[in-house]
Amino acid sequence: MSKPKVLVTRPLFPEARAILDERFDVEYWTQADRISRGELLRRVADKDALVCLLTEKADDELLAAAPKLRIVATVSVGYDNIDVPACTRRKVVATHTPGVLDETTADFAWTLLMAVARRLVEGDAWMRSGAWPGWDLDQLLGGDVWGKTLGIIGFGRIGRGVARRAQGFQMRILYHDQARVPLDAERELHAEFADRDRLLRESDFVTLHVPLLPETRHLISTEAFEKMKRTAYLINTSRGPVVDEAALAEALDRKKIAGAALDVYEHEPKVHPALVARKDVILAPHIASATVETRTKMAVMAATNAAALFEGRRPPNALNADALGL
Ligand code: NAD
Repeated sequence: MSKPKVLVTRPLFPEARAILDERFDVEYWTQADRISRGELLRRVADKDALVCLLTEKADDELLAAAPKLRIVATVSVGYDNIDVPACTRRKVVATHTPGVLDETTADFAWTLLMAVARRLVEGDAWMRSGAWPGWDLDQLLGGDVWGKTLGIIGFGRIGRGVARRAQGFQMRILYHDQARVPLDAERELHAEFADRDRLLRESDFVTLHVPLLPETRHLISTEAFEKMKRTAYLINTSRGPVVDEAALAEALDRKKIAGAALDVYEHEPKVHPALVARKDVILAPHIASATVETRTKMAVMAATNAAALFEGRRPPNALNADALGL
C-alpha cells in the first residue's frame, strides 16, 4: 500500500525526519527562503498531512486547497497560525507542541528581563565601540531585579516557569490570568493573583505569557502603559500582536515606562521603526525556544503527532480531538 503523503515546510532535524521518513512519502521544503504562500498552496494540494511552522497559515483557503489533508501539525506551542474551527469543520486534526519548550522559553524571558534591567546590550555595544573610558560611578545605571515585584500575565506552563525562576531573586510575584491556579500552586510559587490593572500598577517587571487570541490582541496598549510604573520594564516572549508596538514606542518616548525587551513583533519579520532606534529596547529575533534540545523536541513532537494519526492512534497533542470525536 502506498504511504500517506506529507509536506514538511522545513527539513526539521534528523530525529524528526527519521519518524516521518519511515511512515510517509515525504516532501521537504529545503530552500533557504521560507516557502511562499503560493508554493505552500500548490504543494499541499495532494498531501494527506502538513507539518508546518508558525510562519505558515493553515486557514480555510489552505484547507480548501488540500482536499485530502487529514492533519496539520505545527512545530510550535502557539497555534494562532492555525484556524482550528476551520480544521474541525473539514475534519482535519490540528496539533501543536505544548510542554517541551516551557523551561527554555522561561529561561529566555529571564534572559531578556535581566538584560534590559542591567543594560547589557548597551554595555556590549559600548565595549565593542572602543569608546569605554573605564569604570565610573554612574555608568549605565539600571534597575535592580532582586527584591522587586514581578507581574506575570498568563500563568500557564511558561508563565509559571518564569515564576519558579523568580524564587531565588526574592521577588514578590503577582500574576494575572483568566483563571486562578489552585491555592497550593499559588503558595508553592509564592504568587498572588491580581487583576490586570493592579498588576500593571504594582509591578516593576511585566512579562507576557498569554496566547494570541482576539481577547489578547493589544492587551498592552496606551491605557496599560498609563497604569505602569515609570520605572517598570515590559518583557514580551508571547506573540507580537499582544503588544501595541506604536503605543509602546510612544510610551517609551514619553517616559511612561523605563524599557522593554521583545522576542516577538506585531508584523514579523518587521519591527516598528521607532523601536529599532531606541536604546531602552532589546530586540531578539523570536528565539525564546531556540535551543538545540528544545527545537529538536518540538520537531519530534510534531512528527509524532502526524505519524500517530496514520497509525490509527489519537495524535497526543491534538487541539480538536474532542470536537472530532477522536
Ligand atoms: P498555556 O496555555 O500553558 O498558558 C497560557 C495562559 O494564558 C493560560 O493559563 C491561559 O488561561 C492564559 N490566558 C488566556 N487568555 C487570557 C487572557 N485573555 N487574559 C489572561 N490570561 C489569559 O500556554 P504556554 O505554553 O504557557 O504558552 C503561552 C504562549 O507563549 C503561547 O501561546 C505562544 O504564543 C507563546 N510562546 C512563544 C514562544 C517564543 O518563541 N517567543 C515560545 C513558546 C511560547
